[in-house]
Amino acid sequence: MIFKEILIRYGELSTKGRNKKDFINRLRENIRYSFADVLPLNIRAERDRMFIEIENEEKLQLLMTRLPEVFGIQSFSPVASCTKDIDEMKELAIKIMEQYKDEELTFKVEVRRTDKTFPLDSHAIQREIGGTVLRNYQNLSVQVRKPDVELRIEVRNDAVYMMAQVIPGAGGMPIGSNGKSLLMLSGGIDSPVAGYLMMKRGVRLEAIHFFSPPYTSENSLQKVKDLANELTKFGANIRLHIIPFTEIQVLIKERVPENMSMTSTRRMMLRVADKVREEIGALAIVTGESLGQVASQTLDSLTAINDVTSTPILRPLIATDKLDIISIAERIGTYETSIQPYEDCCTIFTPASPKTKPKLEKVTYYESFTEFDELIDRAVRNREVHILPEKKNVVDKFADLL
Ligand code: ATP
Ligand code: MG
Repeated sequence: MIFKEILIRYGELSTKGRNKKDFINRLRENIRYSFADVLPLNIRAERDRMFIEIENEEKLQLLMTRLPEVFGIQSFSPVASCTKDIDEMKELAIKIMEQYKDEELTFKVEVRRTDKTFPLDSHAIQREIGGTVLRNYQNLSVQVRKPDVELRIEVRNDAVYMMAQVIPGAGGMPIGSNGKSLLMLSGGIDSPVAGYLMMKRGVRLEAIHFFSPPYTSENSLQKVKDLANELTKFGANIRLHIIPFTEIQVLIKERVPENMSMTSTRRMMLRVADKVREEIGALAIVTGESLGQVASQTLDSLTAINDVTSTPILRPLIATDKLDIISIAERIGTYETSIQPYEDCCTIFTPASPKTKPKLEKVTYYESFTEFDELIDRAVRNREVHILPEKKNVVDKFADLL
């Protein structure tokens, strides 16, 4: 096999002066974690790039399929190497460029010569290798500005390294580099997408789900576990808190007028979520709300709901159209699970005509007859916690990443 390592270019983290070192360490740990179930990786991190050793074809293929999902990577390239002999270098260049033999493409050779004792200078190497490539592949022509393919050659002290392919990474920031938040995860389309977008910005997530048996079934709970599990493939475990919510929902239905019950339900959910958030040491709450999508997501409703806490509520989808949310859901692989037709606790208790402009004073007035504080504490206490994915060895090894 001609490839010896994979070179990784950092995403936005390169601009983060002071925190750069933490970001790089975090990215390295996250890459290790992403492959922990299959193989150990030898990773060398430098200031502006990272190298992963590859010993065989199988490892290369695995890296090529999983690395594009790790946040914090701008792009990566398989790197080949040979001894510092110009004939071997020509041979290697021919092998690397073979993948471009079927198309009319432009290329150029870029040389970096850190070993100053190498007998040919950069220009001479460029000429020799460029000429060899042109002679071997008639479909390729040289273009210095914006070529389709750039064959990069580095003459280092130990060997010569070459690469041509640049594979786009997922972008974003390494998960964990921007703290931890609690995602309110329903079984719908929106909240998994909201979670994904926050993970992409470097946020580590725990998730909370409100469950109302017997009105909601085990199937709907399984769906939420599946969704949380799908989010873990972006490179981090997720702890899922399942809240028994029936008692609170039934009382709201009894005590709050029907057209305001949705607002109260959301307020109670947020109060429970905020308690759990505090217990787990997360700084913000993430939801899949999108402005105007349903009655509970008008500005008036959001204001009445938000009133129960001063914790930052992150709503990454607030200005995103439903069709655009769906296309992200499809791309990240949560859509198929989200559209499974299991009931959710809100659809069952949804009133026929919820208020789009609920009055905060009225909602708080009707809530004031019930001791919700106690019920909220009980729901928090009686929650069930699952760690996803359910693979014990990985969790143990990376317990510090939770
Ligand atoms: P989604 O597609 O995410 O379910 P939605 O458009 O159906 O969103 P709502 O049902 O109004 O919208 O929910 C708004 C947000 O409230 C959700 O995105 C989610 O963050 C949170 N939420 C709703 N129901 C639950 C639940 N049962 N458990 C946890 N969070 C929930
Ligand atoms: Mg929903």
